[in-house]
Amino acid sequence: MAEPVAVLTKRFEQPDAHTLDGYLRTGGYAALRQALDADPADLRQMVKDSGLRGRGGAGFPAGVKWGFVPQDTGKPIYLVVNADEGEPGTFKDRELMERDPHQLLEGMLISGRALNCRRSFIFIRGEYLWPGIRLEQAIGEAYRDGYLGRDVLGSGFDFDVTLHYAAGAYICGEETALLDALEGRRGQPRLRPPFPAVAGLYAAPTVVNNVETIANVPHIVEHGVAWYRSMGTERSPGPKLFSVSGEVKRPGNYEWPLGTPAREIIEVSCGGMLDGRELKFWAPGGSSTPLLTANHIDIPMDFDAIAAEGSLLGTAAMMMYSDRTSVVDAVLNWTRFYEHESCGKCTPCREGTFWLAQILERIMHGHGRIEDLQTMDDACDQIFGRSFCALGDGATSPIKSSLKYFRDEYEYLIEHGRLPDHIDPHAGVVTDNSGRHRPGQLVRA
Ligand code: SF4
Repeated sequence: MAEPVAVLTKRFEQPDAHTLDGYLRTGGYAALRQALDADPADLRQMVKDSGLRGRGGAGFPAGVKWGFVPQDTGKPIYLVVNADEGEPGTFKDRELMERDPHQLLEGMLISGRALNCRRSFIFIRGEYLWPGIRLEQAIGEAYRDGYLGRDVLGSGFDFDVTLHYAAGAYICGEETALLDALEGRRGQPRLRPPFPAVAGLYAAPTVVNNVETIANVPHIVEHGVAWYRSMGTERSPGPKLFSVSGEVKRPGNYEWPLGTPAREIIEVSCGGMLDGRELKFWAPGGSSTPLLTANHIDIPMDFDAIAAEGSLLGTAAMMMYSDRTSVVDAVLNWTRFYEHESCGKCTPCREGTFWLAQILERIMHGHGRIEDLQTMDDACDQIFGRSFCALGDGATSPIKSSLKYFRDEYEYLIEHGRLPDHIDPHAGVVTDNSGRHRPGQLVRA
């Protein structure tokens, strides 16, 4: 059996971990001192050898991404931390920034050193006021004591951080939309290539990494590649924060090695499902990842094992639902979210998410037609792979997967105009992206 780990979360129980004094007292910025003495190319190689994969959803190897950055263009190189965290169910970066903001800053400093980057940004979602305040305080302390700014710790290395509050759009979590928003434009994805590593912010080489990804970097530098790879699997090494929500006894963020079976995380960390409830369906990595069922609860939570089951690890936001919850209601809720958050740039997503929400509303309100199921299936096929960015693909995931595993529930709703009696419209902990509770709304026939 795997054991929970405390790497990124090791200071979470320390009340003053968010202060510079608290961070230094527990070994903070030791890795930075090592990095300032190291060759930037060696640091890049170390991160590449660690096998660290991006924690923002795509799982792309961070060191490989860093390797795409040309070092000889004469342009500045930018580092942008993606703290937009808008994926429903995901709340790991929030806690990392609230509880241990210097860990992120140290990761940025080392990453900046490795990339020969002098200027960095944290793009934080506007709703994250408290994490933002904690970061502002940490940035202020770091400038005051010489960890940021000109000549970091007397090393000759200059590094600046700007905290940028986003205006609140899910699409700005997509890295090129994020860069457009950071430049002051409407946040919409860019055509690629060129990729941001070559032409990103202000058309200069740019690395965009997730908060959790960057927070891993000091630990890799301080403890080494072999130590890091001792956790997780060969292709998904390292520790991972799992954000568990829904109908479990103790929802929250829990740190385990990648590859830990979902059952262990739910039973050991969360105390299992709420009393008397049986697991019915779950999303392994946020609402844009295809749903799984109780039959999948023993699969290892790593990028490849989840993909082999037809889903995605995504942000590892595990949303757990019981047999009392309507999967159609949950899918409708997420589809409304994607309809609202579609940026409108491309037709399949803009029109398709609207019509999918309309059909699901109709079914949920007892006015569905059996041919609606085929129409939804076809509409998803017209969106998936034909949209400009991953939002369109993600919007189809809950629908396609729920049709695959729970078609009988759709058919029951259409035939009877109401949910089966064992489903409680108020049982599910279904939230929209604001975190507002929205119980199932079907009026029973
Ligand atoms: Fe915008 Fe959706 Fe197209 Fe992405 S897929 S560009 S969010 S309309």
